Amino acid sequence: MMGIQRHRLVLIPPPFQGHLTPMLQLATILHSRGFFITVAHAHFNSPDPSNHPNFCFLPLFYGLSDTQISSKNVVDITATLNKKCVSPIKEVLVDQIEKANINHEKIACVIYDGLMYSIDSVARELKLPSIALRTTSATNFLTYHAFVQRQTSGCLPFQDSMSLDLVPELEPLRFKDLPMFNSGDMQKQVAKTIAVRPSLGVICNTVECLEEESLYRLHQVYKVSFFPIGPLHMIAEEDSSSSSFVEEDYSCIGWLKNQPRKSVLYVSLGSIASWEEKELTEVAWGLANSKQRFLWVIRPGTISDVSEWLQSLPKHVREAIAEKGCIVKWAPQGEVLAHQGVGGFWSHCGWNSTLESLCEGVPIMCQPHFGDQRVNARLLSHVWKVGLEWSNVMERDEIEGAVRRLMVNPEGKEMRQKALKLKNEIKIAVKDGSSYDALNRLVKSILSVNV
Ligand code: UDP
Repeated sequence: MMGIQRHRLVLIPPPFQGHLTPMLQLATILHSRGFFITVAHAHFNSPDPSNHPNFCFLPLFYGLSDTQISSKNVVDITATLNKKCVSPIKEVLVDQIEKANINHEKIACVIYDGLMYSIDSVARELKLPSIALRTTSATNFLTYHAFVQRQTSGCLPFQDSMSLDLVPELEPLRFKDLPMFNSGDMQKQVAKTIAVRPSLGVICNTVECLEEESLYRLHQVYKVSFFPIGPLHMIAEEDSSSSSFVEEDYSCIGWLKNQPRKSVLYVSLGSIASWEEKELTEVAWGLANSKQRFLWVIRPGTISDVSEWLQSLPKHVREAIAEKGCIVKWAPQGEVLAHQGVGGFWSHCGWNSTLESLCEGVPIMCQPHFGDQRVNARLLSHVWKVGLEWSNVMERDEIEGAVRRLMVNPEGKEMRQKALKLKNEIKIAVKDGSSYDALNRLVKSILSVNV
């Protein structure tokens, strides 16, 4: 009988932009280390297989309704996915095991996104090693643990979104920085997420130099192996293909080429957070009054008719947008942040955007909306000191002031210098430092249980 020749990994992302992208980057990295890759994904918001000809893609029907699919309620979709994915995932894994046997392969490990915690029991039942990929910061993951601890001990001032007091077990986070777990569904999800112990451990899309303390504390409380192998997008750099759900508008790169060095503020709230029309108008006024250049992403669906809305703005604001601004529906964000014309990023502080900005040495004007974004904003402003904390009041004068603080004032310049320093530290971690070591440890760990 021929021995096992190939190790195959089955990766299971949820159908969200900020989760699918890092999972595909991880797949690219592990493929370059000799693993064969299968990606089992939802049949909607699915990746484009032609961008990854070496991977096998399996679309799965989890049985979500059209309303659920089009909903932006991540908590609801996650709860439903976890309920409905068990049986299709089991079917797919059983099938993969059979196929692997025929092809002299072995399913070496199931790597699932941390949101899809119910997959772990399927892997265990089928005696497959498992790893969870966490696509948020290690610090954010730590807040989950603290939440459950407090819930268990009956002391839960976690829901106080206004309190500036420090959370003793999570300093320097304040109560107002914590993710809000204010629905029963959410609380259940958090409890389940931290209850699972994937047999081979947890991959974190982070870098030790950014979150050393949190990684240490996580290891203390979870007692599984942690592999901080980020930033994944940087390590997977040979893969320049896009996994965007919306087509990227490259015209903004041409526009950026004609802008002075570090002069442009890039404005984007990622794939979920958004401003209402009234707030968009304040942003337009604020940007115009700041007299700074800007590249602004207004996603499809944010507003019913962008041209009509633009026409409704006063003449001087329209002129400022025409002279100093560029508006696109979706930008090639990696290239934008790497462009020398960009000097700042007004961001919702999603973890991917945060990492992408840090890797390019671009300081951030922080406007967290929900979930882990407040945690990331606090890390940016108070730990790494490359993020501007401002009032977040959506009024033109507040916006103008904050934009000028980041783009013109000495405090913005200082942040830009700190950001460049961090960029270099991250580069070293990836080249031959902590992330490189963690990746080697991960590969070794997968292979050691599959001899
Ligand atoms: N993104 C992009 N073009 C845009 C806006 C966002 O490519 O115009 C990408 C961005 O590079 C990042 C992802 O979308 O990889 C957003 O993820 P993040 O975690 O920052 O936020 P989320 O969308 O999950 O809230």
